[in-house]
Amino acid sequence: MAAIAKVIVDVPTMQTDQPYDYLIPADLAAVVKPGMRVVVNFGKGKREVTGMVVDLAEEPEFAGEVKPIVSVIDLAPVLTPEMLALSSWLATSTFAFRITSIQTMLPAMMKANMEKLAIPVAHSEAVQAMFGQQPALNIADITDIVQLKQLMALEQAGEVETVYRVAKKGHAKHVIVIDSLVTEANHDEFLASVRKGATKQIALLDALLAFSNSQKRPTTTEVAAEFSRAQLNQAKAKGWLKLTEQEVYRNPYPEQFPATQPKTLTADQSQVVDQVVAAVSANRAETFLLEGVTGSGKTEVYLQTMAAALQAGKTALMLVPEIALTPQMVNRVKGRFGSQVAVLHSGLSDGEKYDEWRRIARHEVQVVVGARSAAFAPLDNIGVIIMDEEHETSYKQEDNPRYHARDVLAWRSRFHHAPLVLGSATPALESRARAQKGVYTLLNLPNRINQRPMPKVAIVDMRAIGAELQGDFSPALLQALQTRLDRHEQSVLLLNRRGFSSFVMCRDCGFVKKCPNCDISLTLHMDTHRLKCHYCGHEEAIPTTCPNCGSRQIRYYGTGTQKVETTLKTLLPEARILRMDVDTTKKKGAHAKLLKQFGQHEADILLGTQMIAKGLDFPDVTLVGVINADTALGLPDFRASEHTFQLLTQVSGRAGRADKPGEVIIQSFNPEHYAIQFAQHHDYEGFYQQEMFLRHQGDYPPYYYTVKATISHEDENEAAKAAFSLAKSLKSALGDDTIMLGPTPGSIARLKNRYYYQIVLKYKQPDHLVTVLNTLRDQVQTSSRQGFQISFD
Ligand code: ADP
Ligand code: ZN
Ligand code: ZN
Repeated sequence: MAAIAKVIVDVPTMQTDQPYDYLIPADLAAVVKPGMRVVVNFGKGKREVTGMVVDLAEEPEFAGEVKPIVSVIDLAPVLTPEMLALSSWLATSTFAFRITSIQTMLPAMMKANMEKLAIPVAHSEAVQAMFGQQPALNIADITDIVQLKQLMALEQAGEVETVYRVAKKGHAKHVIVIDSLVTEANHDEFLASVRKGATKQIALLDALLAFSNSQKRPTTTEVAAEFSRAQLNQAKAKGWLKLTEQEVYRNPYPEQFPATQPKTLTADQSQVVDQVVAAVSANRAETFLLEGVTGSGKTEVYLQTMAAALQAGKTALMLVPEIALTPQMVNRVKGRFGSQVAVLHSGLSDGEKYDEWRRIARHEVQVVVGARSAAFAPLDNIGVIIMDEEHETSYKQEDNPRYHARDVLAWRSRFHHAPLVLGSATPALESRARAQKGVYTLLNLPNRINQRPMPKVAIVDMRAIGAELQGDFSPALLQALQTRLDRHEQSVLLLNRRGFSSFVMCRDCGFVKKCPNCDISLTLHMDTHRLKCHYCGHEEAIPTTCPNCGSRQIRYYGTGTQKVETTLKTLLPEARILRMDVDTTKKKGAHAKLLKQFGQHEADILLGTQMIAKGLDFPDVTLVGVINADTALGLPDFRASEHTFQLLTQVSGRAGRADKPGEVIIQSFNPEHYAIQFAQHHDYEGFYQQEMFLRHQGDYPPYYYTVKATISHEDENEAAKAAFSLAKSLKSALGDDTIMLGPTPGSIARLKNRYYYQIVLKYKQPDHLVTVLNTLRDQVQTSSRQGFQISFD
């Protein structure tokens, strides 16, 4: 039996990024396993901290005094060996701390209050068997198996070794179920014991008989309006009923989903499904890039591939971007696989996430659909992994660990020997280039279902409109909207907010109001009439005169959805408009509700930001208008063209998906830009060639891997000094084939009163780079004095 547990403690520093040795006390010997959370003493002050057991060993590696584990939090591992291995890979490849990577894999509820929890240690085999049957994930959740009182009794009887501190309140939700013991046979007998005039008791007896007859097991809450807990307890004492505490899952999708039958696949779809299913059957970790135009039936391909995996006794994992924004996809997956599905995304409450997570961990579901973080769903025995809209930027996490879900899925695909399907109408350049090189297998769906035509796209040159411009609308777009109104068809209007901010500028001196803490212009919020910093939260009133020159010519710049809506209402008074942006979708479920209204044709125009560009499938939409195509083209980002092309293609794809043909009108100030030109002609291939050429010229991905190193400090000089010294070390460690840009002040040079410097590296061999950067980070962290922060992206 192992004597030593290797523990990653929850103290994220360089020194603690390696596991520490802890002694496993004899009474915990049979309990402690890798993947369990434990409480340990750490540091000189013997502070109690939580940690994750990642390995076991016979002998300590540490030469000094090895401290014992204080208590365990979990009765069964919460991380599988797969997840432990994945966390290690994740930490190394994203330069994140191991504990940060571990915590990324657990639902928020299991991170909070960890130290308040502890576990009773099962002593006898009988008790272990009891827990083992339904592995409880932590002390808070074993109450559905054993009550605390029982636990204490077990402890007294010597069945349970020690009861450590116990959480006051569990994470899991419980209800009390009523099992009626009243039958036709004993009803009258019970009735005879009731004193005359006790109408409530008589009513309860009748209700209980009815429950028996209809085999209903209501909860105490469900009957609370009629019968109090006291009355139920009384009845229990008389032997009329049993009360059982039961755990219930919080269900984020309580409504029923209309069942959908598998469609008969087209020849193109069949070919694609067959290839993927062949890889499922052969347990082959092949990566497919499914390039299919909008409306080509990719979703049906996903669903049937997943069904094949389930048929083979395996499970299926599907990632979609920002799932809260694409309720239609959840409907389609739930409609096909029903209660076999768990859903994970940021729109769920912590409790719902916790319960969905445990349904997966307990093998109660076979399908998981979710956003980025669902890449870590504790699904076992995976048969196929799907990543829809694989080019979406939301798959990249911008905080530590700075992972891309695609890489995580690729890792899991190898681990499970299961194929990975990356689907998109506009694959990321990186993915398409890998397909070109044969790293991925390219699959095509070049046509829309039933040979429906792609929508016709017209570009309006906004520079040529002049005085005919009404608000932000060209005559062509207005006319097209009017036509749809006349025909009772629907329109989708996109206001591109990327790279676009509403700010206040002086027309006389050009002064722009900036945040006092950050080098960022303040954003105008029309609803509250205030200026806000989106980085630090600073807020102030809108100035009426220029703080710089005193001019009254201080104006609002930029267009917001609200403003467009107001204009549109005056231009097309009869139009019913639904606005979808951050303001109208703040409330939980608001997004789905708006889409439902639009789907039921309760509005003519859906006006919104990027969030309307994805995945919508409405048969009556025959017009898509893009109010401003080019705001993102000017961004200092080498992916600016790619993102613009993708957005325009995606949003165009919302038009003409059913029998009626679609039309798209794009308003642009750069109509000759290649991103707009290729989007107009639905020409991904042409765009790909052109963009690859430019990336090659500029030494950008996919020709090079790029890493951005950022160093920050409260003192600008310190930050600069550290950046230059890091640059020097990098130069000598990396050699001549590395391109290094900088150090330069960060793209945001000051944020929350910290100064940022950055270095951009372009490199061809990622393995060597990862090693070098991890070593350098360790050196910087340990040698520099306090106050530095360094990160690699
Ligand atoms: P994509 O995901 O590629 O944009 P969808 O999967 O949404 O395309 O398919 C577009 C439309 O075609 C949907 O309304 C879908 O129900 C329908 N569809 C997909 N496959 C078939 C099929 N084999 N037969 C009939 N209709 C189909
Ligand atoms: Zn001014
Ligand atoms: Zn700020």
